[in-house]
Amino acid sequence: MKKLLFLFDTDPYPSVFDTVVAYDGGADRVTGYANVTPDNVGALVDGTIFTRGGKEKQNTAIFVGGGDMGKGEALLKAVKKKFFGPFRVSVMLDSNGSNTTAAAGVALLAQAKKLKGKKAVVLAGTGPVGMRAAALLGKEGADVTITSRTQKKSDDAAKAIEERFGVKVKAIEAADDATRAAAVKDANVVYAAGAIGLQLLPLSAWKDNPNIEMVADVNAQPPLGIEGIEATDKGKDRFGKLAFGALGIGGLKLKLHRACVGKLFDSSEAVFDAEEIYALAKEMA
Ligand code: NAP
Repeated sequence: MKKLLFLFDTDPYPSVFDTVVAYDGGADRVTGYANVTPDNVGALVDGTIFTRGGKEKQNTAIFVGGGDMGKGEALLKAVKKKFFGPFRVSVMLDSNGSNTTAAAGVALLAQAKKLKGKKAVVLAGTGPVGMRAAALLGKEGADVTITSRTQKKSDDAAKAIEERFGVKVKAIEAADDATRAAAVKDANVVYAAGAIGLQLLPLSAWKDNPNIEMVADVNAQPPLGIEGIEATDKGKDRFGKLAFGALGIGGLKLKLHRACVGKLFDSSEAVFDAEEIYALAKEMA
C-alpha cells in the first residue's frame, strides 16, 4: 500500500522544501494543498480518515506547513478536532521548518552545554523558528529574551509562546545593531533567528563579550545573521565561544525532518509538534 502524505499549507503555494523532504523521508506520494485554513480543512481531513481501515490507515498522514506559526497552530488544532475514535491519522506541524530547525539548534546547544539557568537571547525571535527556539530554550530552564524591531510584535510573540508552552519569555524591542548589541550584553547564549540574508549582530557585539558562551544562527544566506561565524560551524571555537551556523544546524534539521516524516507512517496516532520533535532531536544530536 502506498504511503500518502497530504501537505496542508497555510501559504498561497504548498512548500517545495517540505515536498522534497517528505519524499526523502519515505512518502511514496506527496499532495500539496495551498491556502488551507481551519474553515476549509474539514473535507481534506475526511479524505484521510475515512478511506483506509485498521493498520492500513497508518499509510496516510498529514503535514501542516506554511510561513505563519499562528496559522499553522490553528490549522493543526482544526485537523485534530476532526479526529474521533479510530478515525485519525498521524500529523506533523512544521510551519517554515519551525519545529525541526529550532529543535535541531537547541538540541545541539543543549548537548554542548547545560542551558538551565543560562541567559538566552533569541534575536528576531518573532518568526516561526525564533518562537519555537525561545520556547525550547525556556523548557530547558534558560532565562529567555526575544527581540523584534517593534515592541508590539515582541509582546505578541511572547504571549503566544506563554499560551502554548507555559514558558515566560521577556520581550524587548531591538531594531538596529546598537540595540541588538545591548540586548546580548548579559547573554550567555545568542540564537539568531532573523529572516533569510539578514545580518543581525556585528562581530564587535559579541567577540569580546565574556558573558557569551555560545552563538547559533539559522540564516544560511550571506550575510549571515551573526558576523564572524561560518554557516558550517557546528560547535566550532570562535573567539572562545562555541559557534553553530545554519548549515551546521541544518544537517541535523534535515535528518530530523526526514525521520519525523518516516515516523508518521509507523502508526495512525502520532502528533509531531515541538515537544515530540525536540525529544527526537535530542536523541539524534
Ligand atoms: P521569518 O519569519 O522570515 O523572519 C524572522 C524574523 O526576522 C521576523 O519575525 C522579523 O522580526 C525579522 N526580520 C524580518 N526582516 C527584518 C529586517 N529587515 N531587519 C531585522 N529583522 C527582520 O523567519 P523564519 O521563517 O522564522 O526563519 C528564520 C530563519 O531560519 C530564516 O533565516 C530561515 O531562512 C532560516 N531557516 C533555516 C533552516 C536551517 O535548516 N538552517 C531551516 C528553516 C529556516 P520582527 O518583524 O519582529 O523584527
